[in-house]
Amino acid sequence: MSRVALVTGGTRGIGGGISEALQRAGHVVAANYGGNDEAAMAFSERTGIQTYKFDVGSEDEVRFGVHKIAGDLGPIEILVNNAGITRDGFLHKSDCARWDAVIQTNLTACFNLCRAVIEVMRVRGFGRIVNIGSVNGQVGQIGQTNYSAAKAGAIGLTKALASEGAGKGITVNVITPGYINTEMVQAMSAEVVAGIVRGIPRGRLGEVEDIARAVLFLTADDADWITGSTLSINGGQHML
Ligand code: NDP
Repeated sequence: MSRVALVTGGTRGIGGGISEALQRAGHVVAANYGGNDEAAMAFSERTGIQTYKFDVGSEDEVRFGVHKIAGDLGPIEILVNNAGITRDGFLHKSDCARWDAVIQTNLTACFNLCRAVIEVMRVRGFGRIVNIGSVNGQVGQIGQTNYSAAKAGAIGLTKALASEGAGKGITVNVITPGYINTEMVQAMSAEVVAGIVRGIPRGRLGEVEDIARAVLFLTADDADWITGSTLSINGGQHML
């Protein structure tokens, strides 16, 4: 069945792949982004997917954005909380501004988006929410106390909200990707990336499609009994 789907950070990287996969599956997709107008315009021209610019860390902007999407496309039935940032550095050299930025964009955003869509999902008796966490929220990555905390928080939020939504036809799951070949990873030095790949038993970085196909699986109508799950997709790098 065709659903209305919102993908945050959905115009490039992993989110871009998720948006396109949902579109190919027959859904009507709204792709959110934060500031890169050029990438968003190119994405929209290439795919025909409508884009919506708002800061996922801002409760007011999210409420306004979700209202606009619902007016344009209909009530949001699938939400993928994908937008994320890193501000790396050892804790003893970091500061509150970097902490706040990472928590706001990676974790508070999940609250903002879920809060903005959940009441309508409850009334309609259907909803699919997928949060994009990270392997580094499971293992605790050096130089990423802020990011690891935010992504671990998304796992806790997922489980609590899954319990709250279970009686209302709403599933909430979290995918925890390992290292995926996007700009976020391409920003690292070749030496660091080579070291990362050596630690991945499958012997390669993940591709955007490796995550997108899992989102399709979790958001399908018949994935009704899968909720509160943490799906690790990391080429065998970390096995819980
Ligand atoms: P990218 O940096 O390639 O893309 C990030 C996306 O998030 C962009 O679309 C960006 O918008 C959007 N975004 C950032 N801040 C905001 C904001 N405040 N409001 C709205 N949108 C925002 O990231 P990836 O594709 O690599 O990562 C996607 C998700 O996957 C993130 O949550 C990341 O933490 C997670 N992840 C990534 C891994 C990887 O190896 N790449 C591994 C594990 C998890 P704009 O285009 O406007 O800048």
